[in-house]
Amino acid sequence: MNVLVINPPNIPFTNSSLLAPPLDVLEVATLIKKHFKTTFLDMDALNVKEIPNNIYQNIDIAVVLIDYQIPLHTTEAAEYLLELIKKYGAEKKFVLIGKTPTYFPERFINAGASIIICGIYDEILIPVLENIFNIKTLKQIPNLVICENNRIFKTERKFTQGNYKSLPIPDYSMIDFHNYMDTASMITSRGCDGKCKYCSTPYFFHQFQSRSVKDVVDELEILVTQYHKKKVIFLDDNMTISKERMRDICIEIKKRKLSILLGCLSSIAHYDKELFKLMYEVGFRWIHFGIESGSEEILKKMGKPMSITYIRQVIKEVKEIGFRVRTSFILDYPGCTLEDFNQTKNLILDLLPHEIRLHYLAYRPGTPVTYENPKEQVSGYIHSTSGSKNLYYQKEILLFLHQLEKQNYLVFIEDQDWRIYNDFNQNQKFVSMVPMKYGMCWYE
Ligand code: SF4
Repeated sequence: MNVLVINPPNIPFTNSSLLAPPLDVLEVATLIKKHFKTTFLDMDALNVKEIPNNIYQNIDIAVVLIDYQIPLHTTEAAEYLLELIKKYGAEKKFVLIGKTPTYFPERFINAGASIIICGIYDEILIPVLENIFNIKTLKQIPNLVICENNRIFKTERKFTQGNYKSLPIPDYSMIDFHNYMDTASMITSRGCDGKCKYCSTPYFFHQFQSRSVKDVVDELEILVTQYHKKKVIFLDDNMTISKERMRDICIEIKKRKLSILLGCLSSIAHYDKELFKLMYEVGFRWIHFGIESGSEEILKKMGKPMSITYIRQVIKEVKEIGFRVRTSFILDYPGCTLEDFNQTKNLILDLLPHEIRLHYLAYRPGTPVTYENPKEQVSGYIHSTSGSKNLYYQKEILLFLHQLEKQNYLVFIEDQDWRIYNDFNQNQKFVSMVPMKYGMCWYE
């Protein structure tokens, strides 16, 4: 049996200088490859809206992953996937994985998908593929939505934490690195013990689970020695949740004498000065903190209470250690007033991080903020960005961007702004309203 694993077209297509390999899709393809003949197709990277004929002729099943661990896909991408399924679903079996199909299975089944795997797929995917033509056995597998004679059948719902450790190291031979940004990326964990109300991770993946330290450093070594990568960013939601694990990873990198520059996403709540010094010692140079607000009131509403004084202290220390620091802020969290925005503004001006990402809130399915504000899901579907037009302090946001510009920040408003700049001075500071390039301006 031949299986095609698809990263669907992300409409509008992602700018290749910003694009990371779809690691969650590659992870699925690697798992399937151990059991079936497998082809990998990244429609986003290749800018294609159709499955090439030579591939389509030779496959029996298409497995599509959308909005699973990397939250890249947009509402438009999901709509386009529906079109794709309508076009090909009558002839081929389509198996879907990801948050969007999990929360809206009917839409995909009605479009022609054969099976939706709801939630975590680790222990379910291979049995599903092995029994794809055996509806009786499929009905015994939990957490599926199945199309049976044009009717929808839901199998038993069973809580599963999955078995993340059992997943293989992604097989990078299935992708062409030339299609992606220069800085390589890795994902080594999933889930979170935090309860931020806007974040889907703890509600979809539940508790924190991670790959073994050996696996993580093996993968890093493959990127360095086989693919000659010089910079790697860990795109785990929060790489320092487990301080012990992070410390062991650093010790292993040191032991193997890997020469590589590293970056990761972390959280203020999981900062530890000694750990960050060790991280710096083994090559970490870039760190992202999702701070999200300068107002303690709003932070409480977000489900991530934090002292602003402590945030100030952490960012100061991390900069002193030598890290290039990126921070992100949500400008329009429900209940946010001009006064809250001013507190955020003052905090940013005080911290002056090297990179600032300013967001409008994305209402993601499965998150408390979405349930609490159902009207904000304008399409009733995936998520919308709210506020940008209606926000009454929009003018103040623009003035703030201007203020940062005067402090020598480059300001990025539109995605295409990133295409203009390829080269930056060391220590160049950015503020961006759109996704930002990784791996800029950090060196030895
Ligand atoms: S700490 Fe990060 S991953 Fe965890 S719930 Fe908050 S935003 Fe999500």
